[in-house]
Amino acid sequence: MLLTEEHEALRRTAARFVREEIEPHVDAWEEAERFPSHEVFRKMGDLGLLGIKYDPAYGGLGLDFSYSMVLAEETGAVSCGGVPMAIGVQTDMATPALARFGSDRLKREYLAPAIAGEMVSCIGVSEPSGGSDVAALRTTARRDGGDWVISGGKMWITNGMKADWCCLLANTEDEGGPHRNKSLIVVPMDAAGIERRKIRKIGMMSSDTAELFFDEVRVPAENVVGERGKGFTYQMMQFQEERLWAAVNALRWLDRQIDMTIEYARDRKVFGGSVLDNQVVHFRLAELRTEVEALRAMAWSAVERYVAGEDVTRLASMAKLKTGRLLREVADSCLQYWGGNGYTWESPIARAFRDGRLASIGGGADEVMLGIICKLEGTLPGTSNRRRAN
Ligand SMILES: Cc1cc2nc3c(=O)[nH]c(=O)nc-3n(C[C@H](O)[C@H](O)[C@H](O)COP(=O)(O)OP(=O)(O)OC[C@H]3O[C@@H](n4cnc5c(N)ncnc54)[C@H](O)[C@@H]3O)c2cc1C
Repeated sequence: MLLTEEHEALRRTAARFVREEIEPHVDAWEEAERFPSHEVFRKMGDLGLLGIKYDPAYGGLGLDFSYSMVLAEETGAVSCGGVPMAIGVQTDMATPALARFGSDRLKREYLAPAIAGEMVSCIGVSEPSGGSDVAALRTTARRDGGDWVISGGKMWITNGMKADWCCLLANTEDEGGPHRNKSLIVVPMDAAGIERRKIRKIGMMSSDTAELFFDEVRVPAENVVGERGKGFTYQMMQFQEERLWAAVNALRWLDRQIDMTIEYARDRKVFGGSVLDNQVVHFRLAELRTEVEALRAMAWSAVERYVAGEDVTRLASMAKLKTGRLLREVADSCLQYWGGNGYTWESPIARAFRDGRLASIGGGADEVMLGIICKLEGTLPGTSNRRRAN
């Protein structure tokens, strides 16, 4: 995709923010297993970074999705995965459906403060009973007078401990089957009946991940996003932006792992020469770099087509799959060349190894991506018609 001077200007702003406001604190935030999301988001909001693709009527910059992906790419330069993921949830996972389908009132009340960085958002899809099979989720919202009454639970929710509102997917209809019985509802997280539990993880330490409990939580009926019963479809659309975000965000991250491994392996001596001088090592790193370039081409091509209005389900799923695979492959290969020093908790390559492992699970596991691709290929049992899509 051809990026303009306007993209590059935005890139410089994002890069400066990462360098000055995030990077100096990463080690402390990782150690503390939390970061001050309200403070960081407020500063990003002041720079317009949280609403790049959104309507200026709600405080956005009114640019297209490719500009938002420039921010995704630049936050990939952060030396941990947790903080970029929290930002990505705010910009490209919890807010796209609200921006596209939400009422003016809902957007003024929740989208505008998310863009300004005054409110932290989260996306509530996955549940304790499972995250892969979205259609099978169990949380319900029933109508009672002018309210929705929500009961159930959500699991693995990024930003969940601190979020001011949640874009929640719940079963709202008795009829229509699992793809037409759900709605997205904006839930203010200070509503009575909500409890939160922090989940401790093996990586993404600074990211706050929560289990959310909803016990007869009352929310105004108008908090439904768009039309009732369309929540599954809206969430599948919202996933496209999430998956493109994941792919583009990984690019700098992957490059950085290769860069720091080259540096380390060049300095480290074995058998009278540097680790890097062994052909098996520099060839392997060249191979991995080639893979990253291939992902870069695929991810940005998907972004370009998405901006042009094409259905990019196929390419976005492929890019997400490749991202998960590569984050595992690159971190694993690189860590090997760091030897014992790579196996320590503090080592930067170990952090990448831990954090990157999530990509094959979150936002749709690798196998879920393969299922989508196979469906479009017409090779999934029961799906014979090949649907053309990018
Ligand atoms: C750190 C973290 C942050 C997250 N943030 C959020 C968030 O903000 N919001 C949110 O809603 N969710 C979030 N998730 C949840 C994430 O999207 C789910 O973990 C994911 O969708 C998988 O669901 P599951 O963990 O329940 O695994 P399950 O659905 O139980 O699946 C387990 C495994 O089964 C395999 N599998 C699944 N389907 C198939 C298939 N068709 N064929 C073969 N194998 C298959 C896969 O390997 C999968 O990993 C987060 C998860 C983590 C760990």
